[in-house]
Amino acid sequence: MSGPLIIIDPGHGDVDPGCSYEDIYEKDIVLDISLYQLKRFEELGINAVITRYSDIYLNPDKRTQLVVDSKSIYCISNHINAGGGKGCEVIHSIHNDGKLAYKIFNKLIETGLYPRRVYSKESTQYPGQDYYFMHRNTGSCITNIVEYCFIDNQDDRERILKNWKIYAEQVIKAFCEYIDHPYENKTEYIDSVNNLYDCGFITTPSYWIQSDSYEIQYFEELVLNYTGKNNFDESIIYLAQCNIIDSPNYWLDNDTYSVENIQLFIIKLSDNIEYFEFADSVYTLYEYDVINSPYYWIDNASYEIRYFEELIINYTNKSTFEDGIIYLAESNVIDSPEYWLDNDTYSVENVRLLIIKLADNVDQFGEA
Ligand SMILES: [Zn+2]
Repeated sequence: MSGPLIIIDPGHGDVDPGCSYEDIYEKDIVLDISLYQLKRFEELGINAVITRYSDIYLNPDKRTQLVVDSKSIYCISNHINAGGGKGCEVIHSIHNDGKLAYKIFNKLIETGLYPRRVYSKESTQYPGQDYYFMHRNTGSCITNIVEYCFIDNQDDRERILKNWKIYAEQVIKAFCEYIDHPYENKTEYIDSVNNLYDCGFITTPSYWIQSDSYEIQYFEELVLNYTGKNNFDESIIYLAQCNIIDSPNYWLDNDTYSVENIQLFIIKLSDNIEYFEFADSVYTLYEYDVINSPYYWIDNASYEIRYFEELIINYTNKSTFEDGIIYLAESNVIDSPEYWLDNDTYSVENVRLLIIKLADNVDQFGEA
């Protein structure tokens, strides 16, 4: 009988909290990450176990014994770092080639985590053996210690609190690639369906989550809801214009679509909800002749002030930008005219939010 393929080890626990920042403890973050990974391995059909399911204390001997006794081929030991550095580290045994460690590291830094290092460390006390007990005392198990980031670095800390699930998933992805196991992330799809439901684009999430084929009319309905257009082809072209989909021809030329492509499409729609709102607003202003090149506004990450001023002047039909802003404030379209009057530069975000507001109110001004 073969043992599990992998054992996940959430570092620390109970009286050993690991590193911390205010009331944020390493032991809790790595437990969340590890339980998530355990669930994901199960979903993917990979036989996985874990050293602790809850906030309990395991001394090094007990912890490594659990790994050895499990007879797992691989172990991933999850940790958070501290001590003034930044970024992620993966530590492999001095007896291992580090290939899996690099796979994990590369997948983690893809997400924007700062690439600190992949390394191994020999013990000075036990020459020829590993420095870390998780490597030294886990026998033939291929153990990698993953230090996701530094809790005492503000940027790292904000990232791990917000993105821990993404990082946990990246490790899964790396592992699947390494052992050549088919990878799929249904969780991402389910989250997307729920997100579209929350935003009112989907009415029955269970249909989208549980079915293994979709009726084309429901799919078309979803796309029409999202774009606000009256026909499917028009919607597809529009989504391509907004850079939300890459290959409109697939959707225009076929009568049936694969379940996989529909699910990927739905993930894209969900990922782009906010951006789409902006793009949608730009097109609305384009239809009303307030702006003449939608691509400029949609594709750029910064805007020239004179084009922005021109837009405001066009929209309000006033002769100066200042008059336009005052007029918009008087008409209750904007709340803080001072921001626009007192500054010489504006954040892209604020410009986009204003454009969304202008589009929302275009009926009021469109006649002007
Ligand atoms: Zn630790």
